[in-house]
Amino acid sequence: MTTTNAAPVKCARMACTCMAPPGKKYCSTHCEDTKSLTALACHCGHYGCDEKAVAA
Ligand SMILES: [Zn+2]
Ligand SMILES: [Zn+2]
Repeated sequence: MTTTNAAPVKCARMACTCMAPPGKKYCSTHCEDTKSLTALACHCGHYGCDEKAVAA
């Protein structure tokens, strides 16, 4: 029984809803750089993250 390390993991930043790449805690350097900041919105630039508050 083997365990894969490639399982997707959510970005460690609270405000971010993106998935981080395998082996990474954050989806982007933006999130890593701003991890200490408290923000309600994420601006990492990934589709579906920054605009999640937009209702059709
Ligand atoms: Zn994000
Ligand atoms: Zn992120």
